[in-house]
Parts: sequence; C-alpha cells; structure tokens
Amino acid sequence: MNWKKRRIKMYKIEATDTMKTMMSDYFKSLESGDKKIAWCTSVGPAELLRSFGFEVYFPENHGALLGATRMAMDFIPEAIKCGYSGHVCSYTTADIGSFLKKETPLQKHYGLEGVPKPDIIAYNTNQCREVEDWFTFYADHFDCPIVGIQPPRHLDEVTQDEVDLVVKQFKKMIPTCEEVSGRKFDLDEFKNVVRLSKEATLLWQKVLKTSTSMNAPLSFFDGTIHMGPIVVLRGTQRAKDYYELLFKELQDNVDESKGFLPEAECRIFWEGMPIWGKLRMMSDLFCQNNAAVVASTYCSSWVFDKFDENNPWESTARAYTEIFINRSEKAKMEMLKQWMKEFKIDGIVYHDSKTCFNNSNAKFGMPQRLKDQTGIPSLIIEGDLCDLRFFSEGQSITKIETFIEQIQDAKVLS
Ligand code: SF4
Repeated sequence: MNWKKRRIKMYKIEATDTMKTMMSDYFKSLESGDKKIAWCTSVGPAELLRSFGFEVYFPENHGALLGATRMAMDFIPEAIKCGYSGHVCSYTTADIGSFLKKETPLQKHYGLEGVPKPDIIAYNTNQCREVEDWFTFYADHFDCPIVGIQPPRHLDEVTQDEVDLVVKQFKKMIPTCEEVSGRKFDLDEFKNVVRLSKEATLLWQKVLKTSTSMNAPLSFFDGTIHMGPIVVLRGTQRAKDYYELLFKELQDNVDESKGFLPEAECRIFWEGMPIWGKLRMMSDLFCQNNAAVVASTYCSSWVFDKFDENNPWESTARAYTEIFINRSEKAKMEMLKQWMKEFKIDGIVYHDSKTCFNNSNAKFGMPQRLKDQTGIPSLIIEGDLCDLRFFSEGQSITKIETFIEQIQDAKVLS
C-alpha cells in the first residue's frame, strides 16, 4: 500500500485551541520578569520549586520543540563543534546548539527574545545522567546555582530506604531555593502545589485511559501534543482546569463511540521517545493503514499517582523515583504487561532511539521476552527524538506497513 496516496481526514480535538493559548501564555509569562525562573528537568522537583514562587522552565520541552520544528538539525552541529558528541542526547545537543546560535522557535512562535535566563537550575537524574551534564553547561554559563537529585536507579522495587534517601536530597535543596527566591520554605504552600499537581496528573491519567475504549478518542501522537501542560504547568490550577476540559471532551467522544480512527483494525503501543520531526507523518502512516496507536510509555511518564499532599515529601520522592524510565528491566516488563492488557494491544512498536539509550528498551532482549510472556508481536524501528540523520523514512514505512499487515492477517485468521 502506498500510504502517501491516501488522504486522511484529521480528527479535531476541540480543546486544542485552549491548550495552544495556555502554552503561549505560559511562555510569555517566562519573559514578563514578574517571577524568578527555575529551570527543571521534565520529571524533576517542579512542585518544590513552585512552592518558592518560581516560574518553572523545562529545557526538555524546548528540545521537543526544536525536534518538532526540525530546527534541531541546524543546531546539533553547533554543539558538536563545541565538543559534544553527535551520539549523545539530541535534546542536549539541539538545545545547546540553539543557545550558541541565539535562535529558538520561542522567538517566532511566542515572540520571546530567547530562552528565559535562569535564577536557579534543578535536575533529577531519575531519567538519565545526561541532564546533569546538559544543565551544568548552563549553570557554568550563567554562573547560576544548580541543585541536583540523584536517586538510586534501575530498581525492581522502590523501598522506604530509597524514598528516605531522595527525601533527604529534596530537603537539601531548601537553603539554595530560599536564598535565590528570598522566601522561607512554606510547608502549606508545598502541600498546596502537590495537591494541584496530583489533581492534574490524575486527570491526565484519566485522559490517557479514555483510549482503553475500543473506539479510542486519543492517539499517542495527539497525546504528545496534549501532554504540554502536564509537563510545564503541573502544580498549577491552569493545568488542572485544562485536563478537566480535555477529559470531558474525550469522555463524551467515548460515550458517542467517536474514535480518532473509527475503523481501526488493530491497536498499537508505542514504546520509547517520539520522533518529533516526523510526528505527523507517523500519525498519518498508522491511520492510513487502519492501525490505532492508542498508548505509550512516553505519555504515561507524567502520571504520578503516588502524589499525596498529606505526605508531600515522601510521596513526591516515591513518585519521581518509581517512574518507568528509572526502573529495572523486570519492573518495566511488569508495567508493560499491565498496559498491554489494559489497552488491549495487538502489537508493540519499539523506537530504538540512537541518542537516547535511556528511553530505548529494545537493546537487551525485552521485545522477545515480552512476546514470550504475552504473545504480542513487536517491531523495532531505528530513529531518534530530534536528529533525523538517524531515521530512514522509506525503510521505516516498509517495516511498519508489513508489521501492521501481519497483525491484521493474524487477527482475520484467529
Ligand atoms: S532521557 Fe533521553 S532524551 Fe531525555 S534528557 Fe535523557 S538522554 Fe535526553
């Protein structure tokens, strides 16, 4: 089948316009100068930073924008010239290259002069060590205080020992946050932010779970767009309000049996990072082959269902340490099996991302082991989150179309 020849009528999620306005307001607020700015990793201690009144900026979100606009391809060589390998995290190299070139999509899309200047930088190596190197580049450049959380990694189970250790590391951030913000730590404010974050994250979970319905209303590709507020605005009322709106719309669609692909012949799970510069192409490719990509590890990474405002330290330490990317192969397998069942998955596509070893799970036999245990077939495609030199479009299309055809044939025969 030649996928380019078929036209797809796009399914419109009405809440998208609200989300775009919110994201625009968020970026503009970073430049207004009203609040001090904290830079934070995407699964870092955002709640604690917000409790000190910081506006929080997330360089990984900027990395995703660089990938989606394909500007990353112009910027990665700048970072390489300055000594970074072209094989390390392309969020890092694209972001540093963009900074060195003084160009960013934030200028064209939101009218900003550039990325906001940090007053404090915070990272959590629960996802990878790369963030420490990446953020230290900026701490050195801006001569800015930097605080880090280094939780134990690759655990089968997160025990009280690990939680206690991470709580201690969280608490060590307080003096620096107090000094930079000029505010004393306020436990009630911290609890309030954790509560708002919990309410938004549980709504985000409900949003994702609407696609357990056979007529799924949200695709993985749409999810990567609608996750913006849970990444950059968690801990605010705005994020909570947005996910209430989105959930209501999607639930109405479920009730009316309105799926994004009404005649889907199979249901696919996406494992690994998005290929940001090819989102639309990938979305069309799967839809045109009647395959609905209904769930992913990536979008689920911002479900922190352990948050509890009555136990803010331990619950945030636990939630940020228990995330999928920070777990052992064994723990990841259990989480994947649960998602396969819940979303009634027929096949898994693993994106083996060249520059993100940490969020690629096809290298140590997991696809085979998972197939042995669940019977669900899988496909590995090679690519990258931002660096399109590592992605072969023609080869990937052929592999994906063949994979979908095999699943659909097997379903007809069964
Ligand atoms: S998890 Fe991967 S993509 Fe994200 S910052 Fe780390 S290396 Fe980069």
